Amino acid sequence: MATLMDAQQAQANPCSVLGTWKRARTTMPAQSAPIAEWSAYQGRLSRGLVSTAQMIQKRYMNGAWMETSSKALAQCMSATEREDLSYEVQAVFWEDSLARLSKSGGAKAALAQIIGDSKFQLFRLVGHFKVDSDQDELEDQRAGFHRGRRSIFMDFTQIEPNDWLLIFVHEILHEVDSVLRDAVPVFGDLQLRSYLEKLARKIQNPISLSGADRAQLDRWLEAALNRGLGAEVRAWAVTFAIYLEGRADGTFNKIEWMESILSHRSPHESLQRFALRYLDPRFADSDKSPFDQALFATGLKLMRVGITHGSTEIKFGPELLNLLSNPISEASSSASSTKLRQPR
Ligand SMILES: [Zn+2]
Repeated sequence: MATLMDAQQAQANPCSVLGTWKRARTTMPAQSAPIAEWSAYQGRLSRGLVSTAQMIQKRYMNGAWMETSSKALAQCMSATEREDLSYEVQAVFWEDSLARLSKSGGAKAALAQIIGDSKFQLFRLVGHFKVDSDQDELEDQRAGFHRGRRSIFMDFTQIEPNDWLLIFVHEILHEVDSVLRDAVPVFGDLQLRSYLEKLARKIQNPISLSGADRAQLDRWLEAALNRGLGAEVRAWAVTFAIYLEGRADGTFNKIEWMESILSHRSPHESLQRFALRYLDPRFADSDKSPFDQALFATGLKLMRVGITHGSTEIKFGPELLNLLSNPISEASSSASSTKLRQPR
């Protein structure tokens, strides 16, 4: 009865999710009250906060929490309350997502286990409970992985509830990608970069470089690639595997845009190969510095030609390879490739 009323109220006014938490605040004991009373009060506060966060997450999953709900909710909280609730909502989304991945075993559960221990501080929900004056540089993206800070950010009000878990999987795959992890410092190596830029002022074609210089250029370009196209090929290959596995065991509902991407996969084509073939033509080369210099642009072009024609490989680290070779993931992906052979 109370739950139904709460639900109806929440539709009309998102602030009503704060009920238990706000009520707990009104039960603050007197300064002189015994410690036991204070700790009971703390307990009520934290249960109130957790239940508010859980209510928001549940409503979102049921398609009943919109961007406007978050905006309205932000207006009825103080800055401190917004901060407390943001942190708690983040924790609830994180824990619920890991629990759903762990439930049916396979590559999903293996991934949840890799990420589960200590990575929560790298996970950030954005775009919610903000008043208009708050700024966020990631505002215009619904989800992503910040390469430099190695943190995941997701704006749940911009993500279809049905897509949530899969996008979550995709972003945490970037987090566990050791090839990406190794590429970031090489790409950001200022000494190497300025050495190469000096060369680029004199030499335009990588073929004219000395062997040692060519190796340095290729090392940097490979890092750039492993941070861009390579990172997406690796993360998507495993995202596909986990989606197929999750479709087979009921973890995922059908996601139309995934089905449409996977319909381009050829029979028996490996997911690594398919991810590369699908993403390669959709990935534009950067024309920003230093790629506005011929040496860098040509070097990258040569490397990408090698990748397209299979003479250069996109490297996979052991943790992602393990997830791809998970027996359940293989069984379900070959089952699905049979399905995909039928015209859609
Ligand atoms: Zn990605």
